[in-house]
Amino acid sequence: MTGMAHPAGSRHADILPDSHPLPAPADLNAINPAIWPRSARRADGALTVGGLDVRDLAAEFGTPLYVLDEDDFRARAREFRNAFHEEDVYYAGKAFLCGAVARWVAEEGLGLDVCSGGELAIALRMGVDPARITLHGNNKSTSEIEKALEAGIGHIVLDSFEEIARVAYLAAKLGKRPRVLIRVTTGVEAHTHEFIATAHDDQKFGLSRNSGAALEAVRRVLALEQLELAGLHSHIGSQIFQTDGFEVAAHRLVELLAAIHDEHGRQLPELDLGGGFGIAYVSGDEPIDPKLIADNLRRIVAKECASYDLAVPRITVEPGRAIVGPGGITVYEVGTIKDVEGLRTYVSVDGGMSDNLRTALYGAEYTGVLASRTSEMSPMLSRLVGKHCESGDIVVRDLWLPEDLAPGDLVAVAATGAYCRSMASNYNHVPRPAVVAVQDGTARVIVRRETEDDLLRLDMEVCG
Ligand SMILES: *Cc1c(COP(=O)(O)O)cnc(C)c1O
Repeated sequence: MTGMAHPAGSRHADILPDSHPLPAPADLNAINPAIWPRSARRADGALTVGGLDVRDLAAEFGTPLYVLDEDDFRARAREFRNAFHEEDVYYAGKAFLCGAVARWVAEEGLGLDVCSGGELAIALRMGVDPARITLHGNNKSTSEIEKALEAGIGHIVLDSFEEIARVAYLAAKLGKRPRVLIRVTTGVEAHTHEFIATAHDDQKFGLSRNSGAALEAVRRVLALEQLELAGLHSHIGSQIFQTDGFEVAAHRLVELLAAIHDEHGRQLPELDLGGGFGIAYVSGDEPIDPKLIADNLRRIVAKECASYDLAVPRITVEPGRAIVGPGGITVYEVGTIKDVEGLRTYVSVDGGMSDNLRTALYGAEYTGVLASRTSEMSPMLSRLVGKHCESGDIVVRDLWLPEDLAPGDLVAVAATGAYCRSMASNYNHVPRPAVVAVQDGTARVIVRRETEDDLLRLDMEVCG
């Protein structure tokens, strides 16, 4: 078989990008502190998080199970808050939001970004101060805008000309005057490990700086007395490891502030530079320290403002992944183990693309370990796959696991706190897993596992 090309039209050739597995780690049992939650250890062979043995967590709460290290979350939230000014960090709820997380965010002094009526409802139910909430979205519905206006949320980020008119109309109707930001497409599009300054702004979000749409939006908002224009917003991408992209975006936004000042004689007081700060998923990923991000952004904005003779605006950021990602893991039970033609071993777990879509969706990289015990056996190149009816149902494309791996073992996947539970689905009528928060030897279910009854309840033939 070696050297044989993929047959034309082979689905595998399309679905599975060439894999370039990292070499096997020197110690398969090691828990790399750069990748795992801060409280993760090995004790008595098993992985522990928050002082709790994953074998006990699996026995009590079942698998698959999301485990979230509460202290890890809180510490990262505080690190961002301390690096920036008090009140200037907004947690991006889309990464993962539930009642407990909304409370942690508020307790740690962060604001909250929401981008749907559902996320807004969680925040309001949990008593998050509306003044500390920002509403995002490229297609907010009338009812979402109305709910935000009625609650008196701190900022609405305007994403299109149509929305400017719609928010102004609804604000007038409800007798409100919301503070708004204009989302600007700066032409900086950041990708993992690099950034590309593009000439075209070929995407659905924001109003283009290059085409002049952003400045036209400013004119329209300033002409509407129902809206209070607080500033400009830019979000350049996700899982970014360098500050250059943010710096170019900041440079272009300050240039716009200067143009606005020239044209209207007004200086806008706020610049929101969005989120996208990268985290370590696999060894070699090197996230930027929040302090360094803050220092660089402040420095570049101050320098640019000085060159235009502008006052330095308030700088806000919106980290999601960088706060919730690293503290989360997913614990799975190993089922079928299949050796394919000496190529690699397919290790099937009891979840998959329904609890972690990111690998199937855009080839995200993860790593994991045998979590229920240690093993001194040789490494075996594995692909950790789910139980769903798609061959692209992959959780970890290349994972070194010990040769004696057996059904019933627990495997934990690292850094699944962000964009896993929040993107989870019921594909194949699989109930979504529980989320358990762990801290100081105590576990608490913060989102319970779905049951078959939960799934059937919506079916009008079965339960109508
Ligand atoms: C997604 C998003 C964020 C958060 O991105 P992370 O990569 O999770 O930090 C922040 N702001 C906006 C507008 C977003 O769309």
